[in-house]
Amino acid sequence: MDTADTWVPYPSGLMLVGRRVVVVGGGQVAQRRIPALIAAGAAVEVVSPNVTPAIEGLVGSGEVTWIERGFEPDDLDGAWYVIAATAERDVNEAVSAAAEERRIFCVRSDDATRATAWTPASGRDGEVTIAVLSNRHPRRSAALRDQILDGLRGGAIAAGDERDRTPGVTLVGGGPGDPGLISVSGRKALMEADVVVADRLAPRELLSELPPDVELVDVAKLPRGRSALQEEINRIIVERARSGQAVVRFKGGDNFVFGRGYEEVLACREAGVPVTVIPGLTSPVTVPGIAGIPVTHRGVTHEFTVISGHLPPGHPESLTNWDAVARMTGTVILMMAVENAPAIARALMDGGRPAQTPVAVVCDGSMPTQRVVLATLATLEKELVAASVRPPAIIVIGEVVRVAYPDTF
Ligand code: SAH
Repeated sequence: MDTADTWVPYPSGLMLVGRRVVVVGGGQVAQRRIPALIAAGAAVEVVSPNVTPAIEGLVGSGEVTWIERGFEPDDLDGAWYVIAATAERDVNEAVSAAAEERRIFCVRSDDATRATAWTPASGRDGEVTIAVLSNRHPRRSAALRDQILDGLRGGAIAAGDERDRTPGVTLVGGGPGDPGLISVSGRKALMEADVVVADRLAPRELLSELPPDVELVDVAKLPRGRSALQEEINRIIVERARSGQAVVRFKGGDNFVFGRGYEEVLACREAGVPVTVIPGLTSPVTVPGIAGIPVTHRGVTHEFTVISGHLPPGHPESLTNWDAVARMTGTVILMMAVENAPAIARALMDGGRPAQTPVAVVCDGSMPTQRVVLATLATLEKELVAASVRPPAIIVIGEVVRVAYPDTF
């Protein structure tokens, strides 16, 4: 085999559906190579006296075939592609020789200079497969691949002018506020939108990163005319999508958690506008988590209940049975409840929840101004005033707060 330093690899994509690919070796290297072969639809055969538990699992589920013995040259008969991935050089060398004889391209895990094919560092973003080959520098390839994928997924690199601008509405949940806490898909949809319709609680830093040609409609600044604000928002997103624009409806947390997202889905459906949903990290779970408070803990609680506190207990329009909530023993998480927290604490105590139940109020979760105010049901009102707590805040009630702050309670 001529391994002169002057050659350059010829890049190629292979159609492997239903084609026999032989992997010689059953260790970590083989294990790392197999999933991509399965994903490509190859008929994978592993030749090795023993395999890792993960490969054994794939054998069990019928995704690969296992020939349970050492390599024999005839194993390559009828194969289209070979990966020599044993820990022993002479076995890999024998695989190379058998492959060469049969004119089958062969990857070598131990010595790239003895190979006739190389596995690039690869990854996918939508329709695009990224593959990076750098002569004997796998780490450099992987780093470059990661940067390209980050760029594509984050929208910093747009594949020419082929940004996915299908007209329609995409509901995107932005997470609790920190710009790192949006999903990869959500960020991509934002960066590729024609217009972004954003709420007050939508992560602001992400909006400041929007490309200059993305129009921003700030819902907080909409004129309040005759129609209600939500109707106005529904009208805007439907109208823009109908005029051929890719519309992102961007909110804090998740659009379906006290976000009126489904009203927007219904409005789009009624108008025949395609609508997609990209969920977000919702604050009742994420904000306590960021503050170090688990919403469940083994042996402490088997439930957590998320409740909107925008109406006080006893309000004629309230849909919450506070007596039933008071009888529950698990974690209670209140949203939009800063104003009504004292009345809610009273209702819970009246209903039987102990006055000493620990409470944590997490304000501005995930933002630079984040802080935690601790109290009990009995002292909550006093502590909220003393700390001048303002929304947005998540109020966590229950023994999980004691788990997080054992020295305080
Ligand atoms: N759709 C959002 C919730 C909207 S209701 C979500 O899934 O998270 C608004 C309430 O969410 C606020 O009153 C507050 O209780 C809570 N909230 C949202 N973001 C918050 C944050 N960063 N810190 C604390 N509370 C937050």
